[in-house]
Amino acid sequence: MDSISESLFGHSESYRTALQQLDAVAKRLALDPGIHERLRYPRRALVVSVPTRMDDGRTEVFLGYRVHHNTVLGPTKGGIRYHPGVSLAEVSALAMLMSWKCALMELPYGGAKGGVACEPGQMSQRELEHLTRRYTAEVMLLIGPDLDIPAPDMGTDEQTMAWIMDTYAMTQGRTVPGVVTGKPLLVGGSAGRRDATGRGLVYVLSQAVREIGLELRGARVAIQGFGNVGSVTARLLWREGATVIAVSDARGGVFNARGLDIRALGAHAAQAGTVAGFPSGDPISNAELLEVPCDVLVPAALGGQLTERNADRVHAKILAEGANGPTSPEADEILADRGVLVIPDILANAGGVIVSYFEWVQGLQYHFWRESEINSRLQEIMTRAFNRVNAMAKRERVNLRTAALMVGIRRVAEAHALRGLYP
Ligand code: NAD
Repeated sequence: MDSISESLFGHSESYRTALQQLDAVAKRLALDPGIHERLRYPRRALVVSVPTRMDDGRTEVFLGYRVHHNTVLGPTKGGIRYHPGVSLAEVSALAMLMSWKCALMELPYGGAKGGVACEPGQMSQRELEHLTRRYTAEVMLLIGPDLDIPAPDMGTDEQTMAWIMDTYAMTQGRTVPGVVTGKPLLVGGSAGRRDATGRGLVYVLSQAVREIGLELRGARVAIQGFGNVGSVTARLLWREGATVIAVSDARGGVFNARGLDIRALGAHAAQAGTVAGFPSGDPISNAELLEVPCDVLVPAALGGQLTERNADRVHAKILAEGANGPTSPEADEILADRGVLVIPDILANAGGVIVSYFEWVQGLQYHFWRESEINSRLQEIMTRAFNRVNAMAKRERVNLRTAALMVGIRRVAEAHALRGLYP
């Protein structure tokens, strides 16, 4: 890391990974050094303290962030994460990834990300509402329907987005649906948004399996995480006839070599708050799940799950990154040597931001589309992106991650070249 990154982001693994990926691709693309340098830092970053009234009467202060990585292609877009590990460095790395993802999908957005370091599972709804409304008020400087449009990420959901929209609307004296996406349907959400990330992953995966002579039907799948991304991916793959043999969440996991009944597992998780303890299977730890022999492994929880410490024990043919940043650069190399086809995050999990874009457009026009229309447009964009990335990978003899980054980063760099440098 250079001295600026070092002073801002310390020894953050996620930022180091993001920079390493950018630097390698910049070299390959022979990027203009000035443009490359601009892409290495966020455009702007805001750190806020979020004093929150807790149910026992205490005031607790949380740290929150909102980072815009790049604005050359349009307003910024990216999720808000509630998790104890949230930091300026992590949010900045994720914002950079969002820039490449939006560019790869040809959306008119730059990348952003936000978050609050907190433990949402330990907080009541009332505490979460206080926290969300105060966080929104603090980052109001940076968000808006043509400035920066947040969305859900780990630990946040439709309800969080409704609170953000309402808080913003109160300061404007009118409803502003375009300020966030991932809202409940009734208050300006889009049909298909809830399933979009998992659905997009399945569209891309159905293309990728053909590359190695497999089909989704009968493919053996292991999924880490059973939140929005993991549970929808599990359900849609199960419906396609895949055999989902292992699923886990923060509290544990479950394994059944004959396949898990995902509908029954969903009902168990809804009641117990975890997939752990599902009766029709054996317990499995998160570490064991990543090493289970299978056709497709889908990390759909935290980043940094596959590293040089465990990558040589991955026994999957395809790694489809539902999560953002689940694989370290060292693990990437090990997986490549072992012949694992890695579908990178910016391609595999882009369905969420694509349907978020649809929701934003619908909100700006107050005109809403049918779910069938949304799903077919989503499929078209995801398939086109996969084909473009796959062709680039073959042409340049690189893996899918490098190819996807090349397509995305080149688009951002070209926009910078066209717009020039102010003043
Ligand atoms: P979520 O909060 O709905 O679910 C997260 C899941 O991960 C939960 O099941 C949780 O129990 C599990 N988990 C948390 N800590 C864990 C641990 N230490 N070990 C194993 N499991 C753990 O979050 P989500 O929206 O599904 O997001 C999951 C990942 O997908 C994140 O990396 C996020 O950035 C990425 N992503 C989400 C979207 C989206 O639309 N929601 C879009 C693109 C990428």
